[in-house]
Amino acid sequence: MQTPVIAALPAPSMISSVARLGLASLVLSTASLVLTRFDGSIAFIWANTGLVIAALSLRPPEQWRWLLPAFGVAMFAATVCFGMGLAAAAPLLAATMTEATLPAWLLRRWKGHFFDRVAGVVMFLLVAGVLGPLVGAVIAATAISLLTDASWERTAIRWFTSHGLGTITFTPLIMLLLRGEVGRWFQVPLREKMGPVAMLGLVAVVVAGVFLQDDIPLLFLPMLPMLAATMLYVRIGAAGSIVLLVAIGGTLSVTGHGPIHAIPTPPLSRILFFQFYVGCAALLVLPVSALLKQHRRAIRDLSQSEARFRLLSDRSADVILEVAPDGTILHASPSVTQVAGRPAAYYLGQHGFTLVHPEDQHVLWRAHRQALANPDIAHTAQFRSPRETPEPAWFEAALRGLGGTAGQGLIVVLRDISARKATELALEIAASTDPLTGLVNRRSFLQRLRNQIEHCRVGSSQGSVALVDLDHFKSVNDRFGHAVGDLALQAFARITAATIDRRHCLARIGGEEFAILLVGISPEEAQAACERLRHAVEQLEVELPSAMLEIEGPRVTASIGLVAIDPESDPATILNRADEALYRAKASGRNCVQVAD
Ligand code: GH3
Ligand code: MG
Ligand code: MG
Repeated sequence: MQTPVIAALPAPSMISSVARLGLASLVLSTASLVLTRFDGSIAFIWANTGLVIAALSLRPPEQWRWLLPAFGVAMFAATVCFGMGLAAAAPLLAATMTEATLPAWLLRRWKGHFFDRVAGVVMFLLVAGVLGPLVGAVIAATAISLLTDASWERTAIRWFTSHGLGTITFTPLIMLLLRGEVGRWFQVPLREKMGPVAMLGLVAVVVAGVFLQDDIPLLFLPMLPMLAATMLYVRIGAAGSIVLLVAIGGTLSVTGHGPIHAIPTPPLSRILFFQFYVGCAALLVLPVSALLKQHRRAIRDLSQSEARFRLLSDRSADVILEVAPDGTILHASPSVTQVAGRPAAYYLGQHGFTLVHPEDQHVLWRAHRQALANPDIAHTAQFRSPRETPEPAWFEAALRGLGGTAGQGLIVVLRDISARKATELALEIAASTDPLTGLVNRRSFLQRLRNQIEHCRVGSSQGSVALVDLDHFKSVNDRFGHAVGDLALQAFARITAATIDRRHCLARIGGEEFAILLVGISPEEAQAACERLRHAVEQLEVELPSAMLEIEGPRVTASIGLVAIDPESDPATILNRADEALYRAKASGRNCVQVAD
């Protein structure tokens, strides 16, 4: 039964952190009331809302249930002891709590980092500098006008200005304090501290100089050192100079010095003007500091990714290139030496085509243009190396545009795929070749026949198909054995390849059946070629293995059926017609050529 109670209690470290924040809240509230409350009304500058917003933004929402009571007790106590007393304490607490928790809740998605982003700064100024104080002012003015005879409007305006001013002024510095950045800053060596101290000293001197006289309205002048402090020292420069402006300018103004005090308007309008003045200064330096912070982050990210890229590029077996839009190589990784032969420095300034076989350059150039036009995806292209090697070296290039404008070039990764290509080629050859004779097989022959029919259709070529069947081949096997039959088939393939022109295609389409695609010659020339082949086969002497030298080798003859390709026909019909002609050749005594009708 004890466990849930113990689990609900915060950890000791959190208790001490909440207690310290509550104490800080008590000190800030008391300081605002004691130091900036001049006429029995509300304080001139209220810094405590900045503390509450900063603390709530930096701590996870689970801790809010401990933080909010701590802040509540602190503010309640300060109002009772140093402010408007017990009667006003509860409604004023409602006003201050609302004006702090509402902006903190609206800023929660930045997780305490809204000053690091321009959008976050703008949002902070709107919700913490305007919306929160506005809501607080309505609640507080209603309560105070009911409890005292103070006017609602005056009280509301006073509240809005003092709380808005205090929040804009102190939140940036309190954020840095709570994040430990001010503490860390004190630990840096004195030499590094000198610059910020001198710069903020200059801000203090200029603000004092401007607010100690009222002859010339030099209110614009502090902006210059404030901006310089921000540019040089970013957040500490921005937060420090706003605090100095409010502390020095505010103190001198309420004690009767400076150009704002000299404005001939009622005091309330002067306070409003001072608020507006500080708001302008904050609007100047806070976004600049956020922008610088963003840029520094971007530069750090960039140099990290550059370091990662260099490491990859130096260690990778793939070749990594940076290429300009016109194809000039801007960077080549060291591995280029292994694949292209020369050191990386040799290729800088050369065109990427130096690494590409002339016949494949158009393929790569197309991918290059696509990568520039569409940098969101990687484009690939395969090409051969121009180097003279026994086997062609194949590469796959992955190209990716470097984004945005086409002027930024691209990054190219080259991978040696020679081994893969060799395997692919071997598989392709195996799939289209007859293993016994090395001739193309039936599947590949049909493909070539289809292509030739297409050529004939567009009128760019003419052609014929010859079907060749060896005569009485069964008896060759029967008399000499199957092995010698195989030798005879190989000998036939050799003599045929030697007899017919190289442009024709010779295929083994069955056991001892062959097909010849005769291209670019007339049917008459095809018939003559078949006759020459038939005659050559007739003369063929099949060489037997040395063990069988005493026996005379088999003699073979061939019957041939020839058909001219009809462009309107299809492969099956053409082969059928050739087969019919072959049948007639067999029927008419074999060892002859018959032409289809
Ligand atoms: P025809 O003149 O009518 O063509 O008579 P043929 O004996 O050649 O008869 P057919 O074409 O029907 O028979 C083909 C024979 O070819 C059958 C088979 O023994 C033989 N043969 C088929 N493939 C191979 C092979 O790869 N090696 C060997 N040695 N013989 C084969
Ligand atoms: Mg046959
Ligand atoms: Mg036969």
